[in-house]
Amino acid sequence: MTGQGRPGLVAVADPAGHVLPLSLADKGSAGRTGFWRTQRPVLNPDKCTGCFMCWLYCPEDVIDMKEGAGPRGQAIPVIDYEYCKGCGVCAVACPTRALEMVDEEKFMHEEG
Ligand code: SF4
Ligand code: SF4
Repeated sequence: MTGQGRPGLVAVADPAGHVLPLSLADKGSAGRTGFWRTQRPVLNPDKCTGCFMCWLYCPEDVIDMKEGAGPRGQAIPVIDYEYCKGCGVCAVACPTRALEMVDEEKFMHEEG
């Protein structure tokens, strides 16, 4: 991989030698992306196996895995809602459906 002069942008070459630009996940690089959200991912810790798939696929790098915090001592994701843009990739990537996308309206009273 080679840098392209922009932070977070790298180039990778495929087996045929074609150079493909690739932007790496970088929290906050597109601003306060939490304002974009109409739905948020909500975790059911009982269904989570701590597999890291949500962490791996989040395009904004806003998921931290907290080791040992799950009900069975497994790692569970902690999502930074300040920057989570609500794309739902984590919920789709989750093999146990432990993440559910919930309408933001449901949280309006809680957060005033
Ligand atoms: S919805 Fe999930 S994948 Fe998308 S930005 Fe938020 S935490 Fe990341
Ligand atoms: S992908 Fe699902 S099961 Fe795996 S760590 Fe994330 S929430 Fe838990």
